[in-house]
Amino acid sequence: MILMNDFRAEPETLRVAELAAADRVLRSGWYVLGNEVRTFEQTWARRCGVSHAIGVGNGMDAIEIGLRALGIGRGDEVITTPMTAFASVLAVIRAGAVPVLADIDPRTALLDPASVERCISPRTKAVLLVHLYGQMRAMDRWMTLCKHAEIALLEDCAQSHLASWNGAVAGSFGRYGAYSFYPTKNLGALGDGGALVCTDAGLAQRATVLRNYGQSVRYHHPELGLNSRLDELQAALLLVRLEWLEGFTERRRQVAEAYHAGIRNPVVRCMAAPAQAQSHVYHLFVVLCEQRDQLARHLREFGVETLVHYPVPVHFQEACPEIRRDPKGLAATERHAVQCLSIPCHPQMSDADVARVIDAINAFK
Ligand SMILES: *Cc1c(COP(=O)(O)O)cnc(C)c1O
Repeated sequence: MILMNDFRAEPETLRVAELAAADRVLRSGWYVLGNEVRTFEQTWARRCGVSHAIGVGNGMDAIEIGLRALGIGRGDEVITTPMTAFASVLAVIRAGAVPVLADIDPRTALLDPASVERCISPRTKAVLLVHLYGQMRAMDRWMTLCKHAEIALLEDCAQSHLASWNGAVAGSFGRYGAYSFYPTKNLGALGDGGALVCTDAGLAQRATVLRNYGQSVRYHHPELGLNSRLDELQAALLLVRLEWLEGFTERRRQVAEAYHAGIRNPVVRCMAAPAQAQSHVYHLFVVLCEQRDQLARHLREFGVETLVHYPVPVHFQEACPEIRRDPKGLAATERHAVQCLSIPCHPQMSDADVARVIDAINAFK
């Protein structure tokens, strides 16, 4: 079976380096908020082109902590997309704010600026962009829109490690970027992890306090925070895996390029490739098909695993039936949800694997 992710196929040299990093942490006798986390934070901030990175427990917490650090909460509205991991929206709710869902552009499945504009109200405080599938597009347009509307631009970068637009990396455009290091992400830990990146020293300070019970100095709590810290062990492993990230991203791009060149089936459409080849980091490679479920079954029979990102848009989730949305509805999202299919696109795929996936898709009728 060609899997969506294949961690067991990772290079032996990576495994050896991870074991050495884990051994270093075990011998240090220091497991939470120490040198490994500090080094990772500095390294990750530099890679994102920002001055601060704050390691936290996971990507969802990074979004919530950022909102709370900005003072966005009760009664405030945050516009975001229904075509995302549920965590994007849950983080807004957990911060006490009100999520408002705008529709997507069907070509990219990213937020549609026209729909976002329809969602803006006097209570709107922010737009949370999600760089879905690893794409970054039209950041100039979003910066202008948010500036004119006097609302904050926030970035959910959980799928877009090192994605860039005009040479600047994801997370460096908004007031903050929220990263997840869940194992399946392009930069993944061997467990949960996350980080908030920003250039605002005051915001970074507040986030640092919030991740650790709202503690300023030991046993003093000026705020009611969370317990959301990045472990030393995960930080040490992330430092190792970060050395592989560029090479792994390059391999994802090669796989994607082969798909764009090789998939030739009138009933299967690849999602649009970006104009700037370096901007997309292909966290996921998504095709659209009217007979999506039949295509998934066909691929399984050919030994190809697939997943759907995402089959249930946020406004169809049982937990939030009353969620606010674009008054014109979310038709593009609903169409995307029944047509999208993610096919394997990860760094451990061989050329033969890629060819097998292409042949299987082209054989679908
Ligand atoms: C994975 C993901 C998250 C949540 O990250 P966790 O680390 O699992 O909390 C948030 N947003 C998007 C777009 C994601 O893909």
